[in-house]
Amino acid sequence: MGNDSIVAELAGCLPGGEIVSDPGRLAAYRHDETHAAAGEPLCAVVARGVADIVATMRFATRRRVPVVPRGAGTGLAGGATATAGCVVLVLDAMTAIRELSADDMLAVVEPGVITADLARAAAELGLMYPVDPGSAERSTLGGNLATNAGGFRCYKYGVTRDSVLGLDVVLADGRLLRTGGRTSKGVTGYDLTSLFVGSEGTLGVIAGATLRLRARPAGAPATAAAFYRDAARAAGAALALTRAGLRPSLLELVDDVTLRELEEWKAPGLPRGAALLLGQFDSSGSGRAAAAMARLCADTGALATEVVTGAEESGRLMDIRRQSLAAVSRLGRTMVEDFAVPRSRLPEMLTLIRRIADRHGVFVATVAHAGDGNLHPTFLYDHAAADVPEKVWAAAGEMFRAALELGGTLTGEHGVGTLKRRWLRDELGDEGIEVHRAVKDALDPLGLMNPGKVL
Ligand SMILES: Cc1cc2nc3c(=O)[nH]c(=O)nc-3n(C[C@H](O)[C@H](O)[C@H](O)COP(=O)(O)OP(=O)(O)OC[C@H]3O[C@@H](n4cnc5c(N)ncnc54)[C@H](O)[C@@H]3O)c2cc1C
Repeated sequence: MGNDSIVAELAGCLPGGEIVSDPGRLAAYRHDETHAAAGEPLCAVVARGVADIVATMRFATRRRVPVVPRGAGTGLAGGATATAGCVVLVLDAMTAIRELSADDMLAVVEPGVITADLARAAAELGLMYPVDPGSAERSTLGGNLATNAGGFRCYKYGVTRDSVLGLDVVLADGRLLRTGGRTSKGVTGYDLTSLFVGSEGTLGVIAGATLRLRARPAGAPATAAAFYRDAARAAGAALALTRAGLRPSLLELVDDVTLRELEEWKAPGLPRGAALLLGQFDSSGSGRAAAAMARLCADTGALATEVVTGAEESGRLMDIRRQSLAAVSRLGRTMVEDFAVPRSRLPEMLTLIRRIADRHGVFVATVAHAGDGNLHPTFLYDHAAADVPEKVWAAAGEMFRAALELGGTLTGEHGVGTLKRRWLRDELGDEGIEVHRAVKDALDPLGLMNPGKVL
């Protein structure tokens, strides 16, 4: 059977979804935000409802066709890249927020809802959806769930997993599984919800979710900025804050290399050669807490500090952090890395990153969710390079191993995708890999769900 007739058969199964097979349009679904190698897909299905997902998975099982689920394609691990001959199952047209309940403090959503759209809808009800990845205006909730996305406010509110009550998952053979529910507590059976969160499309397709909302913080935000001679010193101050019992909603670090690029690009006046620690407080008494942070930072050797109150002024300081990647990517191609270490090892890891980068002669600018020990060294290389240069991978690999030796993890929030597979065994060990395989085989015995990703 030729490709055209297979695609025609799939089209005939879809109750409402659209088939994309035109090479021009299909190209948009081959890659995520990375330059990870991609195969040529058979076609894409733009799902309009759960029935389209079920039909696609039944077809895939019948015809033994691999399926790559896809949200907005903002992933940074190569997770949504197409594999040869696959169907890309596009979920970004399923954008309904089906329910918002103030009493149960939850939202029932389709997988294609944009993260920030849910945050705005919850805010209208006086509630908050706290997960806020840097990509919140583009990423989908399905993608956030599949990668267990983090972001800026995890220090206080946790990652995506901490905001999930239940999921609708279409399994590889097309069965619809419902996990969890609408209650804020619930321990019946294994925690299948958590199993699917962070599974990167390798165990099933997230077709809907019931998400936990929270009360909106009462006070206006207040933000403290402290500039240090280098990133390790700024990270040391983050530890001092924890010891002092100060608990910002976000605690971000921008290293000296990034700050220099920002200063040159669009923020003249930022102290050159300094690293920045940024803490934001959102509870009542936020102004007092931010002032206390600034005092403590001054006591721990900050070169300069600043405290602002209110959303607008806090936003201005946060823009320094939010613009970091853009400031570096304007210079060439970038590979944004992601790993985490125990918070207490953050100063050491920052020193190691610099040392390893210098030894390999690669340009690295680092930002970190300092409160979570989660680092994002961004590697810069030539615009013209087709692939990530070997010396960049060599330096990155050395950093991953150093993070593991410090008791850390290969990825804090972006996922394994295709790009980190080769280091997986270093962290999971033989037994860990075996258990992962057993789970994968139980749920996807034909290996059709996002093959070549994670495992
Ligand atoms: C500028 C920028 C800033 C970023 N900041 C952050 C950040 O602060 N924190 C963070 O965690 N990430 C961040 N990211 C990475 C990325 O936005 C997240 O990983 C996000 O969760 C991906 O969502 P998506 O809809 O784009 O998913 P995609 O990229 O389309 O897919 C990601 C993975 O999820 C799978 N998938 C997608 N939808 C489904 C579904 N419905 N069912 C099953 N599997 C599915 C895909 O197969 C793939 O493996 C950032 C990215 C960019 C470009």
